[in-house]
Amino acid sequence: KEKLAVHARVAPLGSRFVLVLVEDHTEAKRVEAIRRDFVANVSHELKTPIGALSLLAEAVLGASDDPEAVRRFAGRMLDEAARLSSLVQEIIDLSRLQGDDPLRHASPVSIDDVVAEAVDRSRALAQAKCIELVSGGEEGLRVLGDENQLAMALGNLVENAVTYSPEHTRVAIGVRRVGDLVEISVTDQGIGIPETELQRIFERFYRVDKARSRSTGGTGLGLSIVKHVAANHGGEVSVWSVEGQGSTFTLRLPLVATSAAPAESTKTSA
Ligand code: ADP
Repeated sequence: KEKLAVHARVAPLGSRFVLVLVEDHTEAKRVEAIRRDFVANVSHELKTPIGALSLLAEAVLGASDDPEAVRRFAGRMLDEAARLSSLVQEIIDLSRLQGDDPLRHASPVSIDDVVAEAVDRSRALAQAKCIELVSGGEEGLRVLGDENQLAMALGNLVENAVTYSPEHTRVAIGVRRVGDLVEISVTDQGIGIPETELQRIFERFYRVDKARSRSTGGTGLGLSIVKHVAANHGGEVSVWSVEGQGSTFTLRLPLVATSAAPAESTKTSA
């Protein structure tokens, strides 16, 4: 379907040789289209909270003789400002993840630490909804990568699991080793995702239910961030879900090759 745009340049090299340069412009065009699309989406997404903020500011001005109404509108302005700020932060995160050298700070990262950090981030939200947050599985596994990126990715999966689950349910994070890979799964007993939407949820700004996602503060960028972090680490993310029953998101990442000697014996021999 795609038109191939190939540009050839011919440069004479003395009397017997000719240098032919062939450049494929298809990829450059595709990247440019993605960039334009992204800018259009960002502008659209930023307009919503900015529009809400101006309406609320007008409401505050109109209600200056009613202190209770002013307080209520001001509270909603703070919510919108927080939403705007998390949207901008996620846009920055995503653009860094897509940068030229997204794994600048690669070093061996403990999966135990990544899981603990991700769980910590959602603890308050889970407590408020009486959701049991449990983690378990194989310990001591390490991957080569960026701890901040990995904690952000797993943090997004755990936060989604808690956000899209009703009260008094359970979210379980499991770690297991499968050959050269570590599998980190996040399973919830939440609302699930319709089969027809499963393909699209990793796209930027895609939300199954825009109105509901907005009321829960969602930006539609969380899973796109997870996808890029997984790819940066040579891994992948997948989803299994049954609508009305729950979902499992699984991150698969290549493990750091472990040395034959256990940690203790390394210490004593040093
Ligand atoms: P958002 O900021 O809206 O949560 P994400 O990119 O993290 O954006 O997720 C995209 C959409 O996928 C969400 O709007 C939601 O509809 C759906 N989704 C993600 N995780 C879950 C989950 N654990 N259970 C049900 N739906 C989910």
